[in-house]
Amino acid sequence: LAKVVEGDLGKPAKTQDGERIHVYLNAGLSADTSIAVNRGVDGVGLYRTEVPFLMQRSFPSEEEQTQQYRSILSTYRDKPVVMRTLDIGGDKPLPYLTIEEDNPFLGWRGIRFTLDHPEIFLMQVRAMLRASIGFDNMDILLPMISGIAELDESLRLIERAYTEVASIALEQGYRLRRPRIGIMIEVPSILYQLPVLKDRVDFISVGSNDLTQYLLAVDRNNARVAGVYDALHPAVLHALKHIVETSRQYQLPVSVCGELAGDPIGALLLVGMGYRSLSMNTRNVAKIKYILRHIPVTEMEQLADYALKATVAADVRAKTTEFVDGHG
Ligand code: PEP
Ligand code: MG
Repeated sequence: LAKVVEGDLGKPAKTQDGERIHVYLNAGLSADTSIAVNRGVDGVGLYRTEVPFLMQRSFPSEEEQTQQYRSILSTYRDKPVVMRTLDIGGDKPLPYLTIEEDNPFLGWRGIRFTLDHPEIFLMQVRAMLRASIGFDNMDILLPMISGIAELDESLRLIERAYTEVASIALEQGYRLRRPRIGIMIEVPSILYQLPVLKDRVDFISVGSNDLTQYLLAVDRNNARVAGVYDALHPAVLHALKHIVETSRQYQLPVSVCGELAGDPIGALLLVGMGYRSLSMNTRNVAKIKYILRHIPVTEMEQLADYALKATVAADVRAKTTEFVDGHG
């Protein structure tokens, strides 16, 4: 089977009834970005820029960042690359920056940290924009947005960086392309802000890892409560359904980049709910594409309908597992 799955990798993820699903890569390590390994993806749906930051001894310079970002933009030059601004704090503390807090996951992380350090944010966005000179495939994604004020402040800073880099580009004879800008949907408050953010962003990306953690108030890395952390919890599924329906209503492009998208059960449910873009770790790409290519969307829709009526995650899991097993 592994051979069949691998053999299918280069083919697009088109379901039995002809729906095209976009399968993107979650990347961070430079090894993740090898084109040979990832020939089957439609682009990079999430580039976690904190990964190279975590592997250094000090803050990388603007020049170093520009080189790193340029390398991934160039590797995937004909495909979209979604670059997320620094998402440190929480489970990802920087070794050269001590942050001591009682509740790191509820504390100074993601956009909260970078907006309090606009010089770090501006340097990073400038590096991204500089890296994108001559390419037309870069999108920018903002992590941990919990309200519109954070979004507006981020957009203001990005505009400032754009103006600076556009004039450098012009000196080199290039017109700098404006990146598409999106936010992560991972803090539950933002579910209620979709009507006001829809005109401010070009796309959204659902971070099901943090969305599950914050909706259920359960630490995603704490073994003691691992049983409570469940993305198949009816509340999480209803949140995911609400997001895809609302985005469709607003014609706002949406994808899912949390672990759920790279899990066979999760991918089937997400496509069944209406998602058409999934971003996942490299090890899951071949398997998920294979599954999507062999099951009709109508069956996934039935499965999602069942899941959305279930009252407990265990029922969803039992039913979906039975369904997957039934398909071999
Ligand atoms: C998420 O929260 O689902 C996500 C994709 O981001 P990260 O796992 O990097 O927090
Ligand atoms: Mg997250």
